[in-house]
Amino acid sequence: MPKKKSSEPRSSPPKKKQKLDQPSSSRRSGKPSSSGINRKSPVKKNTVKKEAETMKTVASGRTTFKKFVGAHVSIAGGLHKAVENAVDIGAEAIGMFLKSQRQWASKPLDDKAAEKFREACEEHQFPPHLILPHGSYLLNCGSPNPETLQKSRESLIDELRRCEKLGLSLYNFHPGSTCGEISVEQCLDRIATSINQAHRKTKYVITVIENMCGQGNTIGGSFEELRGIIDRVEDKARVGVCLDTCHAFAAGYDLNTAQGFHRMMEEFKKIIGFKYLKALHVNDSKGKCGCHLDRHENIGKGHIGLEGFRRFMNDPKLNNIPFILETPECDYGKEIDKLYSLVKGK
Ligand SMILES: [Zn+2]
Ligand SMILES: [Zn+2]
Repeated sequence: MPKKKSSEPRSSPPKKKQKLDQPSSSRRSGKPSSSGINRKSPVKKNTVKKEAETMKTVASGRTTFKKFVGAHVSIAGGLHKAVENAVDIGAEAIGMFLKSQRQWASKPLDDKAAEKFREACEEHQFPPHLILPHGSYLLNCGSPNPETLQKSRESLIDELRRCEKLGLSLYNFHPGSTCGEISVEQCLDRIATSINQAHRKTKYVITVIENMCGQGNTIGGSFEELRGIIDRVEDKARVGVCLDTCHAFAAGYDLNTAQGFHRMMEEFKKIIGFKYLKALHVNDSKGKCGCHLDRHENIGKGHIGLEGFRRFMNDPKLNNIPFILETPECDYGKEIDKLYSLVKGK
């Protein structure tokens, strides 16, 4: 179904028509979507409007269409492929890498590739706040090793510049590690200095730090540590947090219970504040609560369980931010459907 009226100008003609049995992007534009009810069955064109109108009535005043669930998708074949891959699985939000994750150095992002990506985002109506690029796993912006620290800082600046060239406003990365050689406070200082330096070298991208599971010497296993970084960042408008459900569970929040969920939400509010929450990584956990192991599991198959995710899908404090799946089997289309089926009143 068309997402824009034909009278509206486009920067480029649509390259790929959306199939009718694929979900529309109408949730992103805030309009009710018939595909939200039954994303699997083909929708005939002439019934779409009627269904949409029905849903408008049904959905008004509810949170039904304010959750934007997507997944970490591949950039193989070009960054714009991420957008196409997201459309193919019915994603309403996108997680992606910006470049190959295996090496420090990467060839510069060329203008054509960036333009293709921006065009794809426009065509399929993915606004910047629903796209969360994930930083290189090689980064340790709090490293005790001067060489690693320097490389990490250069890489952070490079990745933020890539985001700006792609028209993206968020950039998610893991805070870092003391490697057991410096204190947590020293590490927080280094991470914040890395962020402050990168902010000075770039214009507007928000650096989104991720909560971790408290494994070994990694920083970010507690909300206090994330707060410690935010406190040290000069431009508070350019720092945010991505909450990974698996990491939070492994760090000790028993998200399989209502009590645990509310405790986590309350502590997030008290220690960090919801204005800093920019995204969710939606992963079940292979490990038990408090295990401090970063082992993602498919939704409903781990220790958080479907009931745990039902609470995330129905809390209005989590509206209008990207929910990114990073689960092992990568059957993301099914998992997106599963998560939307948890929304109450559907
Ligand atoms: Zn991550
Ligand atoms: Zn993880």
